[in-house]
Amino acid sequence: MDLRPQRPLVHLLLCLRALLPNLALRRPTRIHYTPISRSDFNAGNIDCRNLAVIEIIFAMTRKERFQFVLDYFRENNPDAETELLYDNPYQLLVSVILSAQCTDKRVNMTTPAIFEKYPDSSALSKASFEELFPLIKSISYPNNKTKHLIGMAQMLEEKFHGEVPLTVEELVQLPGVGRKTANVITSVVDNQPNMAVDTHVFRVSARIGLTVNAKTPLATERQLLQFIPKEDVHVAHHWLILHGRYICIARNPKCRECGLQQACKYFQKNVLEKN
Ligand code: SF4
Repeated sequence: MDLRPQRPLVHLLLCLRALLPNLALRRPTRIHYTPISRSDFNAGNIDCRNLAVIEIIFAMTRKERFQFVLDYFRENNPDAETELLYDNPYQLLVSVILSAQCTDKRVNMTTPAIFEKYPDSSALSKASFEELFPLIKSISYPNNKTKHLIGMAQMLEEKFHGEVPLTVEELVQLPGVGRKTANVITSVVDNQPNMAVDTHVFRVSARIGLTVNAKTPLATERQLLQFIPKEDVHVAHHWLILHGRYICIARNPKCRECGLQQACKYFQKNVLEKN
C-alpha cells in the first residue's frame, strides 16, 4: 500500500501529539520540572525537557509568575530579614542612611562605633561634623552622609520628640531620607506594606518579568504592589534583595543555582533559547 499521500497528515498528527503536553500546561499551578544541572548547563546540554519549559515561561501570565516566585520564597526563605544590625528604630535609620551606595557588610562594620558614641538622636544631634566624619569616612559619600546624619538627628529632636516617625510622609522630611529609606523603615519596623526598591529589587524584578518596562524605582514599586499580597510585601522586599545579592547578581547571575529558572524570562531568553 502506498502511504505517500498520507505522510503530511501523519506528520501533522505527530506534531500535534508532541505539542499536547505543553498545551496542557498552559495554566500551570505547580510544574514538575527538574532544574538544569550544573554539568548539563556547563556542557550546553539543554534537552527537549527544557523546550517545554520555554513554552511554560512564555505562556505564564504575570499573576502565575508572581505566584510561582512568592511560593518559592515562602518555602525556601520564609523568615527573610534585613542584614543590617540594629537594636532600635534610631539605629536602623542611621544604618539605612549609611547604606546608600554601600554594602550592608561595610555599614555593619562602621555602626558599632557610631552607636557607642551617639546612642540616641539627642547625642547625635549635638555632634559636630569634625567629630562624626572620622567614624564614617570608610563609607561611600562620607561628607554628605555626615551632614545628613547630624541634620536627621536634629530634626528628630526638634520635630518628632526624638522618636523615629513611622509614616513615609513624615520620614521623607528628614535629611538623607528618601522614599526608599522611608519604605525600608516603615516595613522593617512596623511591617507596613511598603516596597523599598533598591538596585537589587529593580534588577531582579525586571529580569524575572515581575515588572514590565518599569523605567524607575517608583514604577517598579507600583507594579510589584499590584501583584504582591499586602501581608507579604514587607518580607518580599527582603526576598528580592537577598536573591539579587547572592544569586541573581548584576554581572553574572547564577542561573544554574537558581530555583526560579522555570518562571524567569531572562532565563528563557538568555539561557534556554541560546542553547
Ligand atoms: S534564573 Fe537567572 S536571571 Fe532568573 S532569577 Fe534566577 S538567577 Fe536571576
